[in-house]
Amino acid sequence: MSYPDLKITFLGTGTSSGVPMIGCDCEVCTSPDKKDKRLRSSILVQSKTTTLVVDTTPDFRYQMLRAGVKHLDAVVFTHPHKDHIAGLDDVRAYNFFSHKPMQIFVNALTEEAIRREFMYAFAENKYPGLPKLNINTITSEPFVVGDIPITPVVVYHLKMPVLGFRFGKFTYITDANFIDENEKEKIKGSEVVVLNALRKEKHVSHFSLHEAVAIAGELNVSTAYFTHMSHQMGKHEDVNKTLPANMQLAWDGLVLLDK
Ligand SMILES: [Zn+2]
Ligand SMILES: [Zn+2]
Repeated sequence: MSYPDLKITFLGTGTSSGVPMIGCDCEVCTSPDKKDKRLRSSILVQSKTTTLVVDTTPDFRYQMLRAGVKHLDAVVFTHPHKDHIAGLDDVRAYNFFSHKPMQIFVNALTEEAIRREFMYAFAENKYPGLPKLNINTITSEPFVVGDIPITPVVVYHLKMPVLGFRFGKFTYITDANFIDENEKEKIKGSEVVVLNALRKEKHVSHFSLHEAVAIAGELNVSTAYFTHMSHQMGKHEDVNKTLPANMQLAWDGLVLLDK
């Protein structure tokens, strides 16, 4: 069976506070370069018949409007931190038009947080206009959304397990500071890998730029992009110049297409 051709769109490439950060006058937050404007991290994955989003950030509504996403089949979640789940309520718009619940794919950890933080959506007596959600529980085993087979890659965000996802030749990892050797094997053979890189300085729960470059090198992929960046990373253009030829900082609106 051949893997469907995919279109990947970076909906956001910023860390939890976004770039610019509220109240900040640094050179990155005030940069006129569009590539220095980063919504919270998320990607859109589309085949001819299936559209899914990885995470619903606090910017989800605007990200869907900006990318013109009129139809969404599913949300696949990496982990329950607020910058990855906060926008979930806004799937209501898709419920209205499709008359179907939104399919959400979560591991047990994320399911627990979603049931707690969006408690009203799971209440016995629901008031009108609530988001309709259908929970699909996933583990580290491969699963399928529509016609898109997906392999989870378990990475660590300090002590929290986070799911990365491999979609054929493309692997998306966010919010990691550690990837086990066995999990690296699942990524190997990807043509494009996305890794989180928060900033140049070391951080307790995110890869630094230096660490992300080293892992991308070790994985021996032809192209690497970095995401989940803070304003402390520096300006897009300046940082890109310092990277190996096959590695770049991702930017909001970047589209990758299967040949
Ligand atoms: Zn700033
Ligand atoms: Zn995050």
